[in-house]
Amino acid sequence: MKCEIHGGESNSFYLLPIHQENGSMITIACEACAKKSSAYCKTHEEIHLGFAGGYTLCVKCINEAVDARGEELGELLVAQVDLDGFSWIDLREYAEAVAKRTNESETRIIGRAIIVAAMKVEADPKEIIRQTVANGDPNILLPPPMLC
Ligand SMILES: [Zn+2]
Ligand SMILES: [Zn+2]
Repeated sequence: MKCEIHGGESNSFYLLPIHQENGSMITIACEACAKKSSAYCKTHEEIHLGFAGGYTLCVKCINEAVDARGEELGELLVAQVDLDGFSWIDLREYAEAVAKRTNESETRIIGRAIIVAAMKVEADPKEIIRQTVANGDPNILLPPPMLC
């Protein structure tokens, strides 16, 4: 198998969720290139998960952040917006749907969405809350409609 990063042959390879210019949604990489890539978490020694928009994030890093601050951040947003209001329907429905599946609280789901949105752009989660409240729109917290 040919490594798509350094171009050489390799016996062991990793599928990285890194989009390529040729339209491919993944990149095949040898172990050395995979571990040097932006889609590898050095803390957890794991390949990232790919997100819509070409972002890659470590699931374990997300989960640790959610365990530490998910509820708190979710509550912080919910305290500042009228979740029953029209513009927040999508966020409410999203949180309800995920909560049914994962048995987490809806504030924790919202907190997870805030954390993921923040990690994508390397911002502070509180900055994401500030933007969301200022825009009156939960759009940056929601998965794009076309993708799962
Ligand atoms: Zn390589
Ligand atoms: Zn990690």
